[in-house]
Amino acid sequence: DRIISANLMMEDQAVELSLRPRYLAEYIGQERIKENLKIYIEAAKMRKEALDHVLLYGPPGLGKTTLANIIANELGVNLRTTSGPAIERPGDLAALLTNLQEGDVLFIDEIHRLHRTVEEVLYPAMEDFALDIMIGKGPSARSVRLDLPPFTLVGATTRAGLLSAPLRDRFGVVSRLEFYTRDELSFIVSRGADILGIPILGNASDEIALRSRGTPRIANRLLKRVRDYAQVRGDGMITPEIAKEALEMLQVDPMGLDLIDHKMLRAMIMSFRGGPVGLDTIAATIGEESQTIEDVYEPYLLQIGYLQRTPRGRMVTPAAYAHLGLPLPEPPK
Ligand code: ADP
Repeated sequence: DRIISANLMMEDQAVELSLRPRYLAEYIGQERIKENLKIYIEAAKMRKEALDHVLLYGPPGLGKTTLANIIANELGVNLRTTSGPAIERPGDLAALLTNLQEGDVLFIDEIHRLHRTVEEVLYPAMEDFALDIMIGKGPSARSVRLDLPPFTLVGATTRAGLLSAPLRDRFGVVSRLEFYTRDELSFIVSRGADILGIPILGNASDEIALRSRGTPRIANRLLKRVRDYAQVRGDGMITPEIAKEALEMLQVDPMGLDLIDHKMLRAMIMSFRGGPVGLDTIAATIGEESQTIEDVYEPYLLQIGYLQRTPRGRMVTPAAYAHLGLPLPEPPK
């Protein structure tokens, strides 16, 4: 596994549980989303109604699951968590829905991966808090409507474009999570170190923040790895020098790129004059799946302006040439 992967790894789980912010006030960054949610949550509580359904989208590791937890905590209701692929049959979803209490939050991660038949159960549930059940078979079959308690669905997906239009239209609140700034990540690293009791100097959290690809999950993972290095090679204190050494050893460069990013950009430059190159071709060169590149690795490279998407494929930008220390190709004569 690549250390700069934004996907959840086994090694993250324990740390993430202890570092996950529980209330909006502890959630760093995403100011616009927080501002909006604060108002909607307050209003729902005043009216004693369920909060509108919320769709959160953006690359992995930016805090969608965390926000779902926070929404439930702020509302003072239960949270039920599941994921698109985990709900195999319509009956599984019906069971989840009928077990909710009034005002509860149902969180469905990877909601774009719901089976079509399951998704259809969700429509009346979201719109009318109702469940349509077919009883019997053949000519005598009839549909019975069951009332559900009002609830809030929080859906998360890496790309809102993967959602069917009817599902997407049923969310009252749609929010896109942004990559975090270096200052926000530095704060997240300091907070994490504080909670885990890791001694760290102020500027050292900047070093880690710089290489975290705008992603809290990566920041926390790098913090943990740097702590190990500080204990073995130093006296346990994370200084900027120790942080830099550790991250160099982990082969994460100052922009958060690893060897595979380098290999990919170089291959695009050397073999394809910088592109455009199709995603599948890129995937074959570095041995990753196209989907993984598109969802996990590419969004950050697009964000920092090292890659560009064109209708004919991906292109390497002059900024990436400069980062790799390579000359721009001669324009064709
Ligand atoms: P996603 O669901 O988008 O993949 P998560 O919500 O699981 O991401 O976030 C991963 C980890 O990153 C969390 O466990 C938490 O420790 C940390 N994290 C995410 N967002 C924030 C934030 N805004 N402030 C502090 N820590 C955060």
